[in-house]
Amino acid sequence: MNRPAPARMPDSIRRFMGTTAAHPARGVVCPWCRAGVQQPCVIPSSGKRPVQVHQQRIAAWAQLTACCTTCQVTPEVPCHEDGRALKDGSVHAARYAEADRSAA
Ligand SMILES: [Zn+2]
Ligand SMILES: [Zn+2]
Repeated sequence: MNRPAPARMPDSIRRFMGTTAAHPARGVVCPWCRAGVQQPCVIPSSGKRPVQVHQQRIAAWAQLTACCTTCQVTPEVPCHEDGRALKDGSVHAARYAEADRSAA
């Protein structure tokens, strides 16, 4: 095993990493780097594995698991504003908070 040692991080972030050091967003496929379920994200150009999961993956995970209190949608429904889905599959900030809460 030659995994790089994870960087030290504040407890507030480590809380989400759990004992397996996996972000709950690993439960979904990463739409950015195509990492599979429970696979760590990779940077396609270098093959390096970042410690964190991609922002796009966290957004996909939040969309799948949480309601959005900002635009009032249920899980799996994309966030929208003025009747149009948010750009690049992103979600409202409140939705991340909801997803974190349900994962805690
Ligand atoms: Zn990724
Ligand atoms: Zn929303």
